[in-house]
Amino acid sequence: MEKGTISVSTENIFPIIKKFLYSEQDIFLRELVSNAVDATTKLSKLSKMGEVQGEVGELYIEVILDKDAKTLTIRDRGIGMTADEVRKYINTIALSSAEEFIKKFESTDKAGIIGHFGLGFYSAFMVADQVEIFTQSYRQEPGVHWTCTGTTEFELTAFEKAERGTDVVLHINDEAKDFLEEYKIKQVLEKYCKFLPINIRFGTEQIEQDEKDSEGKPVMQTVPRVINNVAPAYIKSPADLTEEDYKKFYNELYPFSEPPLFWIHINTDFPFNLKGILYFPKYKPNTDISRNKIHLYSNQVFVTDSVDQIVPEFLTLLQGVIDSPDIPLNVSRSYLQGDPNVKKISQHIVKKVADKLLEIFNNDRPSFEEKWGSLGMFVKYGMLSDDKFYNTAQKFCVFQNTGKKSFTFEELKEHTQALQKDKHGKLVLLYTTDQEAQHTYIDNAEKYGYEVLQLDGYIDQHFIQFLEGKHTDVMFKRVDADTLNKLIEKEDEAASVLSKEEEEKLKGLFAGIIDSKQAQVELKPLSPGEVPVQITKSEFMRRMSDMSRMGGSQFGFMGDMPERMNVVVNTNHPSIMKLITENNVSHARQLYDLALLAQGMLKGKALTEFIHRSVGELSK
Ligand code: ADP
Repeated sequence: MEKGTISVSTENIFPIIKKFLYSEQDIFLRELVSNAVDATTKLSKLSKMGEVQGEVGELYIEVILDKDAKTLTIRDRGIGMTADEVRKYINTIALSSAEEFIKKFESTDKAGIIGHFGLGFYSAFMVADQVEIFTQSYRQEPGVHWTCTGTTEFELTAFEKAERGTDVVLHINDEAKDFLEEYKIKQVLEKYCKFLPINIRFGTEQIEQDEKDSEGKPVMQTVPRVINNVAPAYIKSPADLTEEDYKKFYNELYPFSEPPLFWIHINTDFPFNLKGILYFPKYKPNTDISRNKIHLYSNQVFVTDSVDQIVPEFLTLLQGVIDSPDIPLNVSRSYLQGDPNVKKISQHIVKKVADKLLEIFNNDRPSFEEKWGSLGMFVKYGMLSDDKFYNTAQKFCVFQNTGKKSFTFEELKEHTQALQKDKHGKLVLLYTTDQEAQHTYIDNAEKYGYEVLQLDGYIDQHFIQFLEGKHTDVMFKRVDADTLNKLIEKEDEAASVLSKEEEEKLKGLFAGIIDSKQAQVELKPLSPGEVPVQITKSEFMRRMSDMSRMGGSQFGFMGDMPERMNVVVNTNHPSIMKLITENNVSHARQLYDLALLAQGMLKGKALTEFIHRSVGELSK
């Protein structure tokens, strides 16, 4: 027997591993299973090169739980280790043999080797008091037994092991006794090892046979339960996958979810290695965006589902898998942001997503438009946050009118050019945030042949502001922001038929009714066909108070201000003339109430009072 000291720079490495190394304890299993996968992949490569004597046999990894003995064993049939290799690789912490292996076989494909997960093997001491290794190298040398109890002391003895490969046995400590529960281990394996390239067996399961028993029931057979799918769709070539395959894979990732809208398969080898499938989910208003996120893998090992630093924020609305061995893993998040590889990868993903959307738009515009409800927010968010994305996306970002007809921005400009240019040469685009509530205004605008766009999403206020910045010849105005002739100012304004005196009288009539803190009266000579009284809310003031309500604006004080409105009286309307001659306050009041009603502002008590007043008028 050989006793020795593990060479580490600090004596106290173990307590550090135990407490601080990983915030998630379960990672130990990822590390050990990854080592087993590495050892197995190496063996099949060596075997292909003719360097392994004898039969390779079936290659799989077993995770074995023994609750009574309080042990968890990770068993592989990989290359194993000689005593010298144990001394070299295990007793010297952080010396990575994967590195050496890669150097040695530089010419072959190195993508299959997982490694560089920091302390790897030693993370076992996060959950175990004692760790044993039983190993037999493929190089017909004597087997080895190594044991260590979480101090820097270890023991190494010769050991007769029947089969090639390595058993790592963890004596689970009391604090980590959760890891002696089958469900727990299954859960951790399913989280990290779902797509590892070598079969991982854990426990058993019953499967139905084709055969039937004497009662006609299918015969059940107990078989090893395989945790992983060694060939997930995303590592395959897009040419080999059908639509069904993509949907099936989506379900594998997010069980019980509605089918995705569409997907993007990324498969790049140069200048970095990146594979993955990104899905566009169907968004419903109450979708929990934080639940089903993009999963990041590295050579088929799950790393994390918080990819915020790796892909731009707007892409985190997508789902699916990205896998890249080129993303550095055990580094801080802030480091990731600055990493040139990560930047390139992120830009690449953005480009792929934009190109794919453009392709779908060009090939099947009707189906693209149908999905706009789910896509719109994502596309606009992307355009706001990424200039390159903006450039491509402006070709497919659509605006829908109240009748759901869609226009790209260019088409919209073209289409509205003739009617909606004001006298200053600006193109005014009208929009509504609520088709029901703003119906009267929409109706009025559409009668004039104006297009009214539906911009009712959370992001739209920011988006139109942004577009106005990009296109200084275009202005967005909500349909109720002003009277129609002011929304889009034209040269020829109708003249007022009222005298100065009559105007003063009219103002006086309304001033007595409205609350001057909230509203002001404006007399306008509109067309006799327009309503006699209407209420408008200045686009500028409304945007300011909207923004301060949403937060993040320098105009925070606006939120506290009551929204001011204009009571616009159409001096050319016949009923207004009548008002003046009769000096009829109660009719003025009624016209004002109707205007409030059209703006959706008559609610609760005010509405009840309005009804009573109207009924009273009728019975006079
Ligand atoms: P890393 O995996 O990053 O190299 P580890 O501490 O996890 O670091 O492992 C150190 C080395 O020990 C590995 O590189 C490998 O050479 C060896 N090793 C660990 N587990 C096994 C195993 N199951 N079979 C063969 N060799 C192993």
